[in-house]
Amino acid sequence: MIKKNLLAIILLGTLSCKQNKTDKNVFNQNYSNKIEIKNIDFDTIKKTNGFDYPVGKPNAKGYYNAQKFTENNHLGDDWNGINGGNSDLGDPIYSIANGYVSFAENVNGGWGNVIRIVHYIDKNKQVESLYAHCTEIYVKKGDYIKKGEKIGTIGNNDGQYLAHLHLELRNEVGLPIGRGYSANTQGYLNPTKFIKKNRK
Ligand SMILES: [Zn+2]
Repeated sequence: MIKKNLLAIILLGTLSCKQNKTDKNVFNQNYSNKIEIKNIDFDTIKKTNGFDYPVGKPNAKGYYNAQKFTENNHLGDDWNGINGGNSDLGDPIYSIANGYVSFAENVNGGWGNVIRIVHYIDKNKQVESLYAHCTEIYVKKGDYIKKGEKIGTIGNNDGQYLAHLHLELRNEVGLPIGRGYSANTQGYLNPTKFIKKNRK
């Protein structure tokens, strides 16, 4: 009986070590073009009205951040369902604020399907959110979307990772897509810290 239990523990330990709920490596990609940001008449756009979390709307209920901003040089947050594994595969992703879709495409490599949304805080201040590894994309470039609107679903980038949402937040809009990991965080914000500070 003791032997059996021990075996089960060893087996469980081995399995859980293999559970990679984050992206871990620099994303291979050859997509380095800058994003062109349309110059929009400010009167016609939807200004932000506070920020919410991109999963478990609006408070990230049922999710946790498995790899935080700057952890292992990570440039974003990795949102995962609390039940682990691929239990969150296909779950909805919500826009964290009102904004304008500047990019919605598959860029392959370690990124997969990527959505980028520009949020107009005021006339002179914008931030940009980026959602990666999505299974599905429900928006297209040029769409205006509201805070909490479903924009896609959580994915695993064709089995490269266990399903999770890689979320970045940038205070320099239109930067090249980057590599997901860097010691240099210039142009990037801590998404969770920023969202917490800007709830409404
Ligand atoms: Zn990530």
